[in-house]
Amino acid sequence: MAAYELIDHDYDVVVVGAGGAGLRATLGMAEQGLRTACVTKVFPTRSHTVAAQGGIAASLGNMGPDNWKWHMYDTIKGSDWLGDNDTIEYVTREAPRAVYELEHYGVPFSRTEEGKIYQRPFGGHTSEFGEGPATSRACAAADRTGHAMLHTLYGQSLKHNAEFYIEYFALDLIMSDSGACEGIIAWKLDDGTMHRFNAKMVVLATGGAGRTYFSATSAHTCTGDGGGMVIRAGLPLQDMEFVQFHPTGIYGAGMLITEGVRGEGGYLTNSEGERFMERYAPTYKDLASRDVVSRCMTLEIREGRGVGPKKDHIYLNLSHLPPEVIHERLPGIAESARIFAGVDVTREPIPVLPTCHYNMGGIPTNYWGEVLNPTKDDPDAVVPGLMAAGESASASLHGANRLGTNSLLDLVVMGRATSIRAGEVIDRKAPCPEPDQAKSDAILERFDRIRNASGSYATADLRLEMQHTMQNDAAVFRTQQSLADGCTAIKAVWDKLSDVKVTDRSLIWNSDLMETLELENLMANAMTIMYGAEARKESRGAQAREDFPDRDDKNWRKHTLATVDPSGAVSLTYRPVHVDPLTTFKEGGIDVKKIAPKVRVY
Ligand SMILES: Cc1cc2nc3c(=O)[nH]c(=O)nc-3n(C[C@H](O)[C@H](O)[C@H](O)COP(=O)(O)OP(=O)(O)OC[C@H]3O[C@@H](n4cnc5c(N)ncnc54)[C@H](O)[C@@H]3O)c2cc1C
Repeated sequence: MAAYELIDHDYDVVVVGAGGAGLRATLGMAEQGLRTACVTKVFPTRSHTVAAQGGIAASLGNMGPDNWKWHMYDTIKGSDWLGDNDTIEYVTREAPRAVYELEHYGVPFSRTEEGKIYQRPFGGHTSEFGEGPATSRACAAADRTGHAMLHTLYGQSLKHNAEFYIEYFALDLIMSDSGACEGIIAWKLDDGTMHRFNAKMVVLATGGAGRTYFSATSAHTCTGDGGGMVIRAGLPLQDMEFVQFHPTGIYGAGMLITEGVRGEGGYLTNSEGERFMERYAPTYKDLASRDVVSRCMTLEIREGRGVGPKKDHIYLNLSHLPPEVIHERLPGIAESARIFAGVDVTREPIPVLPTCHYNMGGIPTNYWGEVLNPTKDDPDAVVPGLMAAGESASASLHGANRLGTNSLLDLVVMGRATSIRAGEVIDRKAPCPEPDQAKSDAILERFDRIRNASGSYATADLRLEMQHTMQNDAAVFRTQQSLADGCTAIKAVWDKLSDVKVTDRSLIWNSDLMETLELENLMANAMTIMYGAEARKESRGAQAREDFPDRDDKNWRKHTLATVDPSGAVSLTYRPVHVDPLTTFKEGGIDVKKIAPKVRVY
């Protein structure tokens, strides 16, 4: 192996990722005086959170009656009863405080006439425990909510003297023999130096793995790196089979058109000009939850009622909306539609198609963000020194299906929760873990092997093969046949990875090498998605199996845990769903009868 010199850094906390979750964690840690480093492969304000459009959910009740218990119920129902109810209670209860905190930090929310935070309706957000009309719960800064949040949180983190390591690519976790996390090793992209961060706590906030699929709304940087690191550490990923397809990606390009368009009154039509959602979801129509709308669109296309020359997509109409609404509330959408679909939204519909959008699954955590490594005796056993938050984690707020605007909420509430918990468990006076040279060498050896890989397959070709496999065999509708074929096909890609070819051997701005490291991470995610989906013989949330069309609570109301060994063998175990909320009805909490599983209709 080439000699790599390690530059050591000692911190109380290292946060990997500077999206909404990473920045909120960093800010919370630094605010308490913990010595905190935030390591990120892209400049903080370029993280995918910047692209979030529609809003952040909180029961402020600014546009009509609302309360956290309705929000909690909607989230449980949205999760198709797979979410952990302690987490769901914690996050929905904390939501109003979290949004006011963002307001005070300086997020420029849109305003109502009286100057309150503007809120719009979003799919699956209702009132009266799913019995009342749709409610306006999404707090929005026009259609650029994530942009506003990310810039504000970055400014606040700098104010509290958090230290940023920007354009550093985290390679792997340093795990002790006893199974505790003691730091990370990162490669500095612009000068090729290697850095070892020794820390009492590592927080993974590396975002989603949307790029496992061919058509995705997420940035090219959403490569599930945290999931890859966790799998290589021998730890499990949870519920990976649940991948959200957003109903309205721009046909062909994949860019997102926010659900806020339907929240503001936009609607979908088929080739007959019919508002078909009225047939499938008579009450909430176009504002049914995402998994439901995506399936209905796919059915319409399959039954020959798609639009366009190939009858292979659907129209999203908003030309009936007053131009002021479009200009004030949806300016970014008008621009995206013009650039990526060549459409003037004041006159024509936007061509759309369900597109991979969000990973409900991820690194399993409790509602403090502590990473779990379940054992037979303790399904909630915690990995010392390791936390996760945001889309890379599975807390599990979203269960089998996420409601729109609940992710931005997840980032800030769970990002903050990690900092509260870290403040309790970190011993500030204790020294940092001593760097383990053998463990560090093993990480560098893997890096060196990939850097010098001279096999037969180009990274881009293998990536494309993976993306097509996922798109063909694990998309909106799934069958035993498609998933069994998918397992064989994705395992074949895994096997080819050891025969990959990297052509650039340098250490400075080597995008070929970085993309190969990312591909290894993506593949760890892809394997757990495909195998988890094949094993789960039911339909729930985003997992729609044509051969098992019903939800099976008796056998399958449980979380999947998947590990992958270096040979590519996937092992699946399960852990129980936390069905009990944090507080009882008597303590001012929710009536458990209200949240018991029932048929999910919108
Ligand atoms: C187009 C779009 C619109 C959306 N709109 C909404 C919305 O309106 N409301 C809502 O609630 N949700 C929305 N979502 C979902 C939500 O935005 C995301 O789930 C969320 O922003 C993810 O945030 P994050 O902090 O977990 O990760 P990200 O914002 O993706 O950030 C990941 C961070 O990790 C870092 N990183 C990753 N790997 C490494 C590595 N190896 N080394 C170092 N650093 C690394 C990156 O540099 C980056 O800083 C939307 C998603 C998309 C794609």
